[in-house]
Amino acid sequence: MAPRDNDFMDAGSDSDISLSDGAYTVSKGKGKGKATDKRKRDDKGKGKAKDVQAYTWEASYTRSWDTVREDEAGSLQSAVEDWMTRGRRRRLQAPAAAIRRSIIRHLVLLLDLSTSMLDRDMRPTRFTLTLQYAREFILEWFDQNPLGQIGIVGMRSGIGERICEMSGNPQEVLKTISDRHKLLPAGEPSLQNAIEMARNSMNHLPTHSSREILIIFGSLTTCDPGNIHDTLDSCVRYKIRISVVALAAEMKICRDLCDKTGGQFGVAMNEGHFKDLLFELVPPPAQQASTHAGSTNPAGDLMMMGFPTRLPDASPPSLCVCHSDLKSEGYICPRCLAKVCDVPTDCDICGLMIVSSPHLARSYHHLFPVKPFDAVKSLQEGGPSPTCHACARAFPTTALSSTAEGVSAVGRYRCPECRNEFCSECDVFLHDVVHCCPGCGK
Ligand SMILES: [Zn+2]
Ligand SMILES: [Zn+2]
Ligand SMILES: [Zn+2]
Ligand SMILES: [Zn+2]
Repeated sequence: MAPRDNDFMDAGSDSDISLSDGAYTVSKGKGKGKATDKRKRDDKGKGKAKDVQAYTWEASYTRSWDTVREDEAGSLQSAVEDWMTRGRRRRLQAPAAAIRRSIIRHLVLLLDLSTSMLDRDMRPTRFTLTLQYAREFILEWFDQNPLGQIGIVGMRSGIGERICEMSGNPQEVLKTISDRHKLLPAGEPSLQNAIEMARNSMNHLPTHSSREILIIFGSLTTCDPGNIHDTLDSCVRYKIRISVVALAAEMKICRDLCDKTGGQFGVAMNEGHFKDLLFELVPPPAQQASTHAGSTNPAGDLMMMGFPTRLPDASPPSLCVCHSDLKSEGYICPRCLAKVCDVPTDCDICGLMIVSSPHLARSYHHLFPVKPFDAVKSLQEGGPSPTCHACARAFPTTALSSTAEGVSAVGRYRCPECRNEFCSECDVFLHDVVHCCPGCGK
């Protein structure tokens, strides 16, 4: 379809070919060329009206306005509702029982920096898009897992390249991938080299923390020095969970890496799906049950943590133990009184894990998620309150005739604990952002 038109457009600079009434007109010379140029443009206009795509790039634009439908009253409310329902339904499918999760996570992000990342099947290129999503992913990941640490390893020219050491500071991690010129894709990727490098950086970690590798893989080949299945076995032995987001197609070895280590595998179909796959990995994974026969999961270990004292900005400058920088602000380790720059971290002097209590509290909601709210079916079932318990906006007084599953016809969602009712915006906000019901505090 489109390429044929393009071929005509691109046909030689000195001879213009244009299409009119099914006949080809070949014109030579400058004066005439201009005239045909104009006709060509007219043709293009007509083509668009007939909804023929003149250029391949036009196909890459999703027509978002086509997917949004107005309801009978000309309002977009139902379209927005529809969109929110998706998230709600997904939440209902999630298991309601408490699952054991690791809240102290260690993740190594493996970025494919091979030449296949220069492909333009994702706009603008796989490489640019990957960097952009990686930044968003890192921010979101640290927001949800404030006690976690991320390291980054790149795969290019057949070797693994350490881009960022394990760090609990999002800004530090983001800084390492902010300069795209240092990361320009080259050569072939090597899964084995990169995984070995990631595994080595997690060797020293204590047993209570999770070890994860997330691979964003655009290539269809890997160039390894040895047997990658040995690497896979050692990852299984070290309980390292590998997840892969592939940008091209499924590779057997990638699927094996994920299946055998308990990770997730997905092939991104388009830009949006790529982001979905990536962000599915933000919440902490459920802890794997022990597979050894007869043994049960070990009981939770107590961990020593310290809550530091924050120095006021006006305090006299002193040296920090982490960078030996002279500055005023910082945190004091409660055990050895050393000064560190940022929390959460491990004290460089005594090794105590230093966290701030808000960090701990923010990690906590994954263990006790807010129960999904019930959709109120009809006006009769609704409670006495005419307004949302959270934002005080009035509920609609008429019921919608037909709604999707999980959507309330009267726009009310009831907390199963305190039986207060909330509007749909608040429902989504409370579950996704606040992680707490304002009616009952659970
Ligand atoms: Zn420092
Ligand atoms: Zn200390
Ligand atoms: Zn509300
Ligand atoms: Zn409640």
